[in-house]
Amino acid sequence: MTELKLFNSLTRELQPFEPIHDGEARVYTCGPTVYNYQHIGNMRAYIFADTLGRALSFKGYKLTHVINITDVGHLTSDADEGDDKMEKAAAAQGKSAWDIAAFYQADFEADLARLNIRKPAHPKATEYVEAMIEWGQSIADKHCYELGSGLYFDVSTVPDYGRLARAVTDEGEGRIDEVEGKRNAADFAIWRKTPPGETRQMEWDSPWGKGAPGWHLECSVMSKELLGHPFDIHTGGIDHREIHHPNEIAQNQAHGNCDHSGAKIWMHNNFLIDRGGKMSKSDGEFLRLQLLVDRGFHPLAYRMLCLQAHYRSELEFSWENLQAAFTRLKRLVMGVEKLPKSDDEFEVYEFYEAMESYKKMWQSKVAEPLKDFESAIFDDLNTPIALTALERAIATKKVDNEIMVQAVEAMDSVLGLGLLSLSRTDLRIRPKDAQITEEEIEAQLAARKEARSNKDFETSDRIRDDLISKGVDVMDGDPLGWDWKLDI
Ligand code: AMP
Ligand code: ZN
Repeated sequence: MTELKLFNSLTRELQPFEPIHDGEARVYTCGPTVYNYQHIGNMRAYIFADTLGRALSFKGYKLTHVINITDVGHLTSDADEGDDKMEKAAAAQGKSAWDIAAFYQADFEADLARLNIRKPAHPKATEYVEAMIEWGQSIADKHCYELGSGLYFDVSTVPDYGRLARAVTDEGEGRIDEVEGKRNAADFAIWRKTPPGETRQMEWDSPWGKGAPGWHLECSVMSKELLGHPFDIHTGGIDHREIHHPNEIAQNQAHGNCDHSGAKIWMHNNFLIDRGGKMSKSDGEFLRLQLLVDRGFHPLAYRMLCLQAHYRSELEFSWENLQAAFTRLKRLVMGVEKLPKSDDEFEVYEFYEAMESYKKMWQSKVAEPLKDFESAIFDDLNTPIALTALERAIATKKVDNEIMVQAVEAMDSVLGLGLLSLSRTDLRIRPKDAQITEEEIEAQLAARKEARSNKDFETSDRIRDDLISKGVDVMDGDPLGWDWKLDI
């Protein structure tokens, strides 16, 4: 089998994946801060991490994947500025910080499921505060100093701070004055003391007074507790390459008394942007998965949109792009709809090339696109190319159903589109405010047919667009005829 190569942000180079523990892959992904809904940009980070995990399983590794839940300690800036996100949301909504965390964690998990993101372990930061305090104690003398506001990490005490970011001095300058007394611009909080006279909803006793852990600490502690250090791959959005991950690395070096960054490979997905730039939650209205569904898009159309771009490229969101991705997904589902349905997860086949039950597949015409699929995925998860290989495989004529099912199962085990379990009916999502009856659809389709027979394509396109905006799909040239009826 082809070697799996991944892009390591530490070296900015592709490198072969060589597991630390034989036959195993251990992956840690920085998870959400559960003070609000996740926007679809955030979900791109988890679709990427899931695709990585699936590729590792496909390659035959036993996967352990952790996505932590940040339910304490994250300030409104990634540096030590601003308010605690959880406490702020609690005050704004008149609820306890714990209730806020539970509510948004549940919403996040529902979104993961809707996007076919395989369930990883979801430990909560608040369950690891004791371990965080112990970690702080182990590094306090050699690497930290105390100020009135908390315990701070002195980044000059570890070698080569910020090598992951490669631009840390510029980044750091802007942060220098925010906390009085910091020795270096990039120094960060290990522990934030509750200001005198105040009580926080989330606070713990510590050797540095009552307070809460700094945000960066949780990922060092939880990744070590859950995966052991060093582990294989650490992932996150590209913004984490600048502050959060360099800080994690510094903590790991200090704690381990070594120059090891904690993970062997650090991987970062690029941003989902919209025309206004990076998506953000700070401006009130923002794009959530539910909004896409309310507009009549299946959640997996968004997964398809993400897969169409390489994870290291920026991806621009627009409703038109989403529509195109949805249509592509529908075509795939149509392409496999004559095959027997299957909810089976593809098992881990270390050497499935050599397995007797796959022999026929490798001798069939589908073998060639399948090989291309593998090469694309193993080349730093090149999902755009992998998708075209899948389409070629599905379009291959004169292949036994049984063989086609095996091939689609194998490929979809990495892409996670649920092709063998989705039906047309599943993809027919009625937009929340759709106002169209069956009779109206019939009438419009008849008018469109008439326009087409008169070669009046302008009218026919307008009718089609109008139907699409109302959640009705028109699939021209589909011999089976797309079932357009709306489920109410
Ligand atoms: P947060 O809840 O803000 O900590 O973000 C959760 C994850 O989403 C992190 O890995 C971020 O780096 C990532 N992220 C945030 N915004 C975007 C975006 N627009 N596109 C892709 N990933 C993002
Ligand atoms: Zn993290």
